[in-house]
Amino acid sequence: MTDLHKNSAQIIKPVIEAGSLRHKEMIQWRHQIHAHPELAYLEQKTSDLIAAKLAEWGIEFTRNWAETGIMARIKGQGGAGPTIALRADMDALPLQEKNTFEHRSRHDGQMHACGHDGHTTMLLGAAKYLAEHPDFCGEVVLIFQPAEEGQGGARVMVNQGIFKDYPADYVFGLHNWPGLEAGHVAVHDGPVMAGMDTFEVLIEGEGGHGAMPHLGVDPTVIAAQLITAFQSVVSRNISPLESGVISVTQMNAGTTTNIIPGSVTLKGTTRALNDETHALLHQRMSDLVQHTCAGFGATGSIAFGGTYPATINQTKATQSLEVVAKRMLGDSFVQSKLPPSMGAEDFSYFLQEIPGCYFWLGNGPTTGSCTLHSPHYDFNDEILATGASLWVALAYHHGLAAR
Ligand SMILES: [Zn+2]
Ligand SMILES: [Zn+2]
Repeated sequence: MTDLHKNSAQIIKPVIEAGSLRHKEMIQWRHQIHAHPELAYLEQKTSDLIAAKLAEWGIEFTRNWAETGIMARIKGQGGAGPTIALRADMDALPLQEKNTFEHRSRHDGQMHACGHDGHTTMLLGAAKYLAEHPDFCGEVVLIFQPAEEGQGGARVMVNQGIFKDYPADYVFGLHNWPGLEAGHVAVHDGPVMAGMDTFEVLIEGEGGHGAMPHLGVDPTVIAAQLITAFQSVVSRNISPLESGVISVTQMNAGTTTNIIPGSVTLKGTTRALNDETHALLHQRMSDLVQHTCAGFGATGSIAFGGTYPATINQTKATQSLEVVAKRMLGDSFVQSKLPPSMGAEDFSYFLQEIPGCYFWLGNGPTTGSCTLHSPHYDFNDEILATGASLWVALAYHHGLAAR
């Protein structure tokens, strides 16, 4: 029986101390990954780095899941127990970094602006520790996932059968959270991230001379009506107690000042915290496009795509994570009452397969535009030790809440 087990009723000691050699080593890995960001499905060097480390530590793994993804397994030697899967995303964003520190991106127009460099590093840190201290019960499955940023790498991995080759009882994921105090944890029982999709509206009228609008059907006027009408869906069709977003973010129309264009396209995104609300958004938008266009003598169509389902945590897994986090960090470091985010996550695809929990780890203040997807963002190295220790604590103590 380890110290961790003896202490399990009370305090769980973080296995990686801030400022320790392990922590410093993780900072080096993080900086290396940050300096060499790679976009969705092209994370080859990152994948090579992960594979080299896992091989060095004697961890069994397979490669090429969703192109660059890696699945690994560490068997506990403490007896029978559940299998928990821990996931880190690997991809960077198409963004020009504006930071000037030494570990800034070496790849023009590519940047780790969402902290996936930190997520990968924390899972590596936990993997190394668990490989060296395998006296936990059950098994730990490691998911290194490519292409989280809008490309649905998680969906591809699920479709390729990761959970057939690596069955797990629960799956956990985390995202660093700027604005939440460094090293604090936020957990949500139920929805944590919204479902999302993109839409494209095509309005086809009849173009003509800008001075003779009565001879055609002006699609720009219809576009203006539609944008306004869309805003009535959230305010008038969705219950005030539910959440939804419709944002028109792109409009394309016309070529010059004296020609009424023949068509207009509108593009944007919708968000909701459950499937029913999302279906209602789709239905109302489709009705508005069809009937508004018809009312003006034009034709309209709308197509939806790029869907991520809502990320919905399971109660038992959430409680387990919450108990472990509170025992390791202290009650005041764990929040469970924050509202969910209308951002989206493809971790939702894992949660559609097996129960689990996706939680936030505070990245600290947003000073200097240190926010997700900002060219000034950087993952906070301070929390590497906390995140990796939490994964290890979960491997050792998962299921505490159920006892
Ligand atoms: Zn992101
Ligand atoms: Zn992210």
